[in-house]
Amino acid sequence: MRVKKGSTDYLPFLTTEYYLQTALQADDAGCRAILKQIIPDIREFDTAECELKDPLGEEKFSPFPRFVHRYEDRALILVTDRCAMYCRHCFRRSFSGGINGPLSDAELTPMAGYLAEHREINEVLLTGGDPLTLSNERLFKIIARIKSVRPELVVRVCSRMPVVNPDRISRALADGLGSYEGIWFVTHFNHAAELTEYSRAAVRRLLAAGIPVLNQSVLLKGVNDDLSSLKELFQKLLRFGVKPYYLFQGDLARGTSHLRVPLRRALELTSKLKYEISGMAMPRFAVDLPGGGGKITLPSQSHPVDDEGEFYIIKGLDNEEYRYPAN
Ligand SMILES: *Cc1c(COP(=O)(O)O)cnc(C)c1O
Ligand code: SF4
Repeated sequence: MRVKKGSTDYLPFLTTEYYLQTALQADDAGCRAILKQIIPDIREFDTAECELKDPLGEEKFSPFPRFVHRYEDRALILVTDRCAMYCRHCFRRSFSGGINGPLSDAELTPMAGYLAEHREINEVLLTGGDPLTLSNERLFKIIARIKSVRPELVVRVCSRMPVVNPDRISRALADGLGSYEGIWFVTHFNHAAELTEYSRAAVRRLLAAGIPVLNQSVLLKGVNDDLSSLKELFQKLLRFGVKPYYLFQGDLARGTSHLRVPLRRALELTSKLKYEISGMAMPRFAVDLPGGGGKITLPSQSHPVDDEGEFYIIKGLDNEEYRYPAN
């Protein structure tokens, strides 16, 4: 993905009082799981051999800054680089917490033009950064602009606010979003301890406004990389009315190797999990192949390892073979 100005791989430290309180009120395992996402680690300065600045290879799918058209029927807009907290595992760390700030009208105009022209696009993802660091007014204006050129477009709002600042999901926000057709909300819970009564109330406000809520989790070492944590997380999400949509293998973003679960182990975990929870509770397990192979749901076929047993060989969306570290 292209960014307008300079960018850095070093993610700032920022969290919310609410999220910190949630950690302190959780049991030991829950507390550890949350603090690992909050507190910077000196190992973030280490770059493993396989780690990349643009781990998804998005640059070549970015017709202009902050706009990614990687998959035929979906486009992604980075509406801001600000978040309420910076997650230590963030794979968009070369953009998030940077110096670009919110999207301007001047940047939005060519995007609206592109959407009007590219009729194959059916869904627009608003992401970043966290779109809900924008004011309601600004967010609604962006959605209105998109809807004015293509009223039928589905808009996905991707935000971690239900996890880190659930009060941000006010009635006014939920009702405002709900006044548009085809709005979906995707959030990012990684551990059952994050699913508090406040989060439940936030989710309820969205559901009451007619907005379906999905969740994407990231598999993280020391946070949720065991069968019982994942099972509890996905079952509790279901109880809250949230559909677990994706569980992601940690991307090969710089400075995140201490949080990454080896793919070999991730595949073992997820194949066991499948037999322990319902189809509704089970998310798709996916990996974004480095170098632009795309987002692949695993296991998609059998994945042979190379001669040394160090890499899985996985077919990308372009049918090319990509290597992903196994251990
Ligand atoms: C993940 C992603 C999407 C959305 O893909 P889904 O599989 O529909 O969730 C769209 N664009 C980009 C660039 C993505 O990385
Ligand atoms: S809220 Fe999302 S974009 Fe922001 S730091 Fe966390 S994972 Fe990254």
